[in-house]
Amino acid sequence: MNKEALKNSINKYCKVKYGKSLGEAKDYEIFNALSLALLEEVVDDWSETKALYNQGKKAYYLSAEYLMGRALGNNLISMGVYDEVKEVLNELNIDLNAIEEIEEDAGLGNGGLGRLAACFMDSGATTNIPLQGYGIRYSNGLFNQKMVDGAQMEEVDTWLKYGDPWSIRKDDEAVIVEFSDYSVKAVPYDMPIIAYGSKNVNTLRLWQSESLESFDFDLFNKQEYTEALKCKNDAENISRVLYPNDSKEAGKLLRLRQQYFMVSASLKDIIRTHKAKFGSDFSSFGKEHAVQLNDTHPVLAIPELIRILVDEENVKFKDALSIAKTVFAYTNHTILAEALEKWDVKLIEKLFPRILEIIRHIDFVFVQELEDKGYDKEAINEFKIINYNQVRMANLAIYVGFAVNGVAALHTDILKDTELHNWYELYPEKFQNKTNGITPRRWMRLCNQELSAYITELLGTESWVNNLSELKQLEKYIDDEAVLNKLMAIKKTKKEQLAAYIKEVEGVELDPNSLFDIQIKRLHEYKRQLLNAFYILDLYNRLKANPSMDIPNVTFIFGAKAFPGYVRAKAIVKFIGEIAKKVNNDPVIGGKMKVIFVENYRVSYGEKLFPAADISKQISTAGKEASGTGNMKFMMNGALTFGTYDGANVEIVQEAKEENNFIFGLRVEDIEQIGGKYNSKEYYEADLSLKTVVDALVDGTFCDGGTGEFQDLYNSLVNEGDTYFLLADFVAFKEAEDKVFAAYKDQKHWAQMSLMNIANSGIFSSDRTIMQYANEIWGITPKTVK
Ligand SMILES: *Cc1c(COP(=O)(O)O)cnc(C)c1O
Repeated sequence: MNKEALKNSINKYCKVKYGKSLGEAKDYEIFNALSLALLEEVVDDWSETKALYNQGKKAYYLSAEYLMGRALGNNLISMGVYDEVKEVLNELNIDLNAIEEIEEDAGLGNGGLGRLAACFMDSGATTNIPLQGYGIRYSNGLFNQKMVDGAQMEEVDTWLKYGDPWSIRKDDEAVIVEFSDYSVKAVPYDMPIIAYGSKNVNTLRLWQSESLESFDFDLFNKQEYTEALKCKNDAENISRVLYPNDSKEAGKLLRLRQQYFMVSASLKDIIRTHKAKFGSDFSSFGKEHAVQLNDTHPVLAIPELIRILVDEENVKFKDALSIAKTVFAYTNHTILAEALEKWDVKLIEKLFPRILEIIRHIDFVFVQELEDKGYDKEAINEFKIINYNQVRMANLAIYVGFAVNGVAALHTDILKDTELHNWYELYPEKFQNKTNGITPRRWMRLCNQELSAYITELLGTESWVNNLSELKQLEKYIDDEAVLNKLMAIKKTKKEQLAAYIKEVEGVELDPNSLFDIQIKRLHEYKRQLLNAFYILDLYNRLKANPSMDIPNVTFIFGAKAFPGYVRAKAIVKFIGEIAKKVNNDPVIGGKMKVIFVENYRVSYGEKLFPAADISKQISTAGKEASGTGNMKFMMNGALTFGTYDGANVEIVQEAKEENNFIFGLRVEDIEQIGGKYNSKEYYEADLSLKTVVDALVDGTFCDGGTGEFQDLYNSLVNEGDTYFLLADFVAFKEAEDKVFAAYKDQKHWAQMSLMNIANSGIFSSDRTIMQYANEIWGITPKTVK
């Protein structure tokens, strides 16, 4: 990269966009000018990549969520110019870090599922796979969380307020999406996904919904201003917010509209590229296109493809269904019943009656196939796509999809053995496992530049960033004191950086010499943040009784957003806040322990938290966390997993060995065995320390502001069966924590365990995952731009 040219380019964009010189520009203006200057560097490669990919089979990832985070730092890493650009900016008296920090996260997702989609985009580009993402360009992503006196408040997320310099709007490729009541324009915004180590630039295409006309001129003239703008508002509402509240019918309709909007626009786009190559010959459609459905949200793509082929392209229904059966593959992300989507027939009929007709037709053909196979009526009812006037999206996806995958070995086994057992018996050949992964660019190379540089020094090459299993070679340093000391020194640096950041944004002082124990993830009862909270409160009680207790200084960090309508999750946030207040303000406890719930956990905050952790808390009820990916980010950055035998934790300890992590609690088999016989009250009454912390919910120790929320939490555990087995796992949790404290005393051994985790994290690169999708599902090989 030519330094002078870059300076000129930044200056130029500052001038044409803001009419000022760089010297006068605000940070966000510099951010935009710099981003445009960098975009200019990759646009030619981007065009070349598109042309190259158009020559063969392509895969499309359809996802309602992309939790992208910030673009600038990641793109600098991918382009291989981070240090150079930092120098250029230094020469201009600009601090790159400040410019990075001004960028808003693109938070177009809720949690793991959306972040997985983002990691897959990065890995698709870096492994040179013809993969394009499709999604929705929500004007407002996941809410911003404000903590007010320990409770969560939500504020609208305005990620576009400083502009979106990395996206290119393609007006000429807009398509029209039709609903029964009105039609809208879907306008694509393309984001470049820049490969690390090659020239490839993949595309994430996000659709924005706009009105066909800007307003109704007649009504406006009649001075009916609100009515005149109704069509504009209706259209723009479709891509206004991620997952609108759907507790009422209007919300459900909006969400269903969003889903159809996304799949209809994407399929019309795919069909347009197909026709440009093959005219109206659709016989090769499945050889040219593979569509991965990220959970059930985009499953309407199936009847939409058939609708377009039948109604607009004169294909016979039977042939259209056969084509669809070669195109779609479905990823299942959860076995939680509430997350398996079902839509009322009435809602579908209201918005797109033709789609309902097609679903009915598919169901009819399916039932005939089952009858031919000799299934009886009762069995058929379990498979049927439409049942009790509801469309079961997973059933539609599994019947038509040619592949169905779970997201970790244990999860896929549970699907085959229990949740989808009948389907597995019907179509054993469709079921596959694809253990999730994370991109080592963002989650190591960018967010832990100190560790990355050291690994490169030790291995003598940076090729591990593209081929993460090379980290295995680090094992040879297992007894090398200098290496172990350096690893611990880097961890200390990352803890100091995090502490400084937390001091700045939260106003709380943390001790970087203490053990950092971190639980960051969406707030959900099955993830059991409440169990962690009970443990912390019990530790506090013991420390009060015995202030000279022999434990290392410890800092417990939480970060989590609770779904706005999820009352219990919000109560748990409040409870943790109350515990933090009590512990942190107690002079007797002094510096021994500290608790903090950080505000607005999101991708960019995660980049500071994961590298600073000593302990990664992964304590979901066994069988409930399909995979988890936060666990992998921690592992790669040298934290030890404190977790249950669940999701990808199982594979983490397989790779890094159980003795280098802390596994505790009930396993899936145990929970199955206990079954309906579980009596949480027995556990509650049997252990006084447990009873004491559970009673703290209701005995006046803490205040929930008179809402009764803490009483409700208490009831869920003691009187309503404790669905997630918190009380059953409490004692094992405590014992495992004792082992952590004992292990932390031996810093050398701790460093060895940490090294083993880093060295064995290679398999959790999403490069490995995406190549498995490409080979084993899509039948696609890499294509590299020369
Ligand atoms: C990785 C990630 C998640 C997923 O975390 P889990 O612990 O796997 O649930 C959620 N949110 C953000 C911001 C993430 O980066």
